[in-house]
Amino acid sequence: MTDDDPDSSTADSTESVLEGVTLTPPMSLTLCPSCGEPVGSVTSRGPLDHTAGPCGCSLTPGEVRRL
Ligand SMILES: [Zn+2]
Repeated sequence: MTDDDPDSSTADSTESVLEGVTLTPPMSLTLCPSCGEPVGSVTSRGPLDHTAGPCGCSLTPGEVRRL
């Protein structure tokens, strides 16, 4: 008994229904522990060299993990 089904066409309908979704920034703004300015990015030049942006303060690895 052969149970072959050659006509097995899997229809993958990947339709992304985009409704009027407004992307809002996260509510919790990360503040720089050094100057208190909102941190938009963290630049890592090494395991112990992290710089917060755009203020430019240096962060410790422990502070980076909390961001
Ligand atoms: Zn800062």
